[in-house]
Amino acid sequence: MSHSIAADAGAPAAPAEKQDFVRQIVRQDLASGKHVAIRTRFPPEPNGYLHIGHAKAICLDFGIAAEFGGLCNLRFDDTNPEKEHPEFVQAIQDDVRWLGFDWASLRHASDYFEVFYLAAEKLIVQGDAFVCDLSAEQVREYRGTLTEPGRNSPYRERSVEENLDLFRRMRAGEFPDGARTLRAKIDMASGNINLRDPALYRIKKVAHQNTGDAWPIYPMYDYAHSLGDAVEGITHSLCTLEFEDHRPLYDWCVDKVDLANSPELLAPLLARGLPNEAAKPRQIEFSRLNINYTVMSKRKLVAMVNDNLVDGWDDPRMPTLQGLRRRGYTPASLRLLVDRVGISKQNSVIDFSVLEGALRDDLDAHAPRRMAVVEPLKFVLTNLPEGHAETLVFSNHPKDESLGTREVPFSRELWIEREDFAEVPPKGWKRLVPGGEVRLRGAGIVRCDEVVKDADGNVVELRGTLDPESRPGMEGANRKIKGTIHWLDATRAVAAEIRLYDRLFSVADPDDESEGKTYRDHLNPDSRRVVQGYVEPAAAAAAPETCFQFERTGYFVADRRDHRAGAPVFNRSVGLRDTWMQKGD
Ligand code: ATP
Ligand code: MG
Repeated sequence: MSHSIAADAGAPAAPAEKQDFVRQIVRQDLASGKHVAIRTRFPPEPNGYLHIGHAKAICLDFGIAAEFGGLCNLRFDDTNPEKEHPEFVQAIQDDVRWLGFDWASLRHASDYFEVFYLAAEKLIVQGDAFVCDLSAEQVREYRGTLTEPGRNSPYRERSVEENLDLFRRMRAGEFPDGARTLRAKIDMASGNINLRDPALYRIKKVAHQNTGDAWPIYPMYDYAHSLGDAVEGITHSLCTLEFEDHRPLYDWCVDKVDLANSPELLAPLLARGLPNEAAKPRQIEFSRLNINYTVMSKRKLVAMVNDNLVDGWDDPRMPTLQGLRRRGYTPASLRLLVDRVGISKQNSVIDFSVLEGALRDDLDAHAPRRMAVVEPLKFVLTNLPEGHAETLVFSNHPKDESLGTREVPFSRELWIEREDFAEVPPKGWKRLVPGGEVRLRGAGIVRCDEVVKDADGNVVELRGTLDPESRPGMEGANRKIKGTIHWLDATRAVAAEIRLYDRLFSVADPDDESEGKTYRDHLNPDSRRVVQGYVEPAAAAAAPETCFQFERTGYFVADRRDHRAGAPVFNRSVGLRDTWMQKGD
């Protein structure tokens, strides 16, 4: 007997169940008994870093497994050795973990190369596959078009014996790259071009990052992907919409090989200590995540890195998970974005402000507050004695006491933000003017008595007085005053490099190639500006990757690579408000 009711009574309400069409299918499959437990996988190709689009797939694959008590594997789809690299294999694992997920089992398509090979021999024996000698160009000619059927390869009717012999010799490395392929024998007249005798194997004498020189032939994506899912007993194979047309081939491979009922094909797995979990998977497609003001094509991201248009894969302006992380995006903010975008079959482009809004909402609730001055102007309080030093106590968050308090130094010499002072104020100005008053956040009201200028007439310093009656705890502390500004103790503030990032592209659709332009022509020239500012000691001392709201300035993160307590470096993650919408785009 369980008596857990009382223990549960104080638990927070469970978040509302998600109702998207994929989860509906999973629910039905569990309710009907089609599956007793579900299994999903996230199958990246290790040919680049993960980007924000992958976050959607990761949250869906791992999220569904977690919500329904199932398992999710991380499987490297490593069937294209030329472009793959162990650096990416490692980075992808780091990124998935950083997003907050962990895999039931880490697999590689290459773990199954021997199984795939035996399955191919089975297809040959069944008369479902043949070795074809047509060149790549000839294959294209024979394939036909969307409106015209293709023609059968002259090698289509080879005997099983000849096919087996040739395929084994392909594997033995007897033929040069591209000389032959193994093709599925399906239907050259099919309306779906993917079914026109697609290649299952090609010859490619390239070393593989996982299997070395063991294989001179490599399986094609559709074949390896469908069988990989079957080997792992994936129940719901979730992928993006462009694979919808590949589903008939996916099903063909799964059904013809029938791994679930072919234990003899799985012997190589068992020999490697992997369990027999084979079952028939089902592919379900959902729409990709697209975000404006950004590019997500791996080809373009690679080119931007290689051509130094950005400072590497983790440049804080990049849409890679490494870049977003360095920019200050939190895992929670990305999961929130994915939740807000939802899962459907409708392709759409999400506005960049939705991404920024998710970060802002997460950081508004969770980031401790600090003060920083980006463009400093000295303000001397002449009615305080030379060497005057105080320590004030500030709460770290206006709405969350659990974030505690910190000490903020205060003295006779302050830094204020240059833009908080105007000699000739515009209409409606609430901040400092000559002879005017302003509240220093948490410290009292000051008046500007004197403006010190250099020979060129530039303002170099302000001198003024602090109203002692307006200090916190004093009678006049609540005296009405129009403006409040942030400030730092100039004697104890820490000089900091402040990197002011903005969107990498200045147009909504950087992929727009009209008028002979490319994405390179759409780069935002103001996407990175570095200034020397100051931060309070309690910000300088933070560990790398700590996020703060710098009051009145924006959300910032201590740079993951370069920040040191003695030499702080902060990246602007996002402003306090959306300034792009106001520009009228
Ligand atoms: P490639 O051009 O190299 O195939 P890819 O973006 O498809 O690039 P994969 O590593 O194959 O990269 O993707 C792994 C998984 O992430 C796939 O299931 C894919 O459908 C999914 N995925 C990729 N891009 C997006 C996106 N923009 N939105 C949602 N899911 C995505
Ligand atoms: Mg892909």
